[in-house]
Amino acid sequence: MPAHEPPAAPDVPSATGHTATAVEHGAFSVARCGCGWQGPARRSRDRARADAAAHSARAEAEAGVPPQRPPAH
Ligand SMILES: [Zn+2]
Repeated sequence: MPAHEPPAAPDVPSATGHTATAVEHGAFSVARCGCGWQGPARRSRDRARADAAAHSARAEAEAGVPPQRPPAH
């Protein structure tokens, strides 16, 4: 495994046009989305990323995109 980080990419790719990412905001991290949504300031970048993921999931649910689930047998 290479030690260097992968190239920059959207943190939370979405099929609904919502590209929520966690951005540094001083000592805090804030989740932001291309739709204009912005999450609360978090001390942890992981928290901000979780906010971004939650926003994308909610946006997809509202857009009528069913969540991925294993095929029924
Ligand atoms: Zn959005």
